[in-house]
Amino acid sequence: MTAAEPDGVAARPEWLRLSGACHCGNLALTFETACDPGVLAVRACGCSFCRRHGGRTVSDPQGRVEFVVRDPALLNRYSFGLGTAQFLVCRTCGVYVGAVMADAGSAYAIININALHTPEVFAQAAVPVSYDRESATERRARRRALWTPATVV
Ligand SMILES: [Zn+2]
Repeated sequence: MTAAEPDGVAARPEWLRLSGACHCGNLALTFETACDPGVLAVRACGCSFCRRHGGRTVSDPQGRVEFVVRDPALLNRYSFGLGTAQFLVCRTCGVYVGAVMADAGSAYAIININALHTPEVFAQAAVPVSYDRESATERRARRRALWTPATVV
């Protein structure tokens, strides 16, 4: 809660800051959103990569995500299929923390909520999704619209 506001002025929503990491700690992430986590869509992508990891992902185009890499040599930027995104996987412990798409000098990301320290804030069921039929152009457009502005440092 914010401090008292003048009458008639709605308090600005607090930004929620969620942190996570891979199992060994080489890859850390911070996801910030002004949304109640309960209203964000949790997606279970049906592609053969996400299915094998049991990935459950969220994004907020009005939010922010930062991935912090302790040792870049131990980060696997795994890419497959149309090659339009890099899936960030720790070479040491094997955890998939999220995916990033570079686009026109910007970057957009999803996070794997399984890698959060408090995944239980997302109590809603994951919605199965399939993007198999998208072209690369459609895929980029969807991610620009729905993924979270991101940095990888
Ligand atoms: Zn790790």
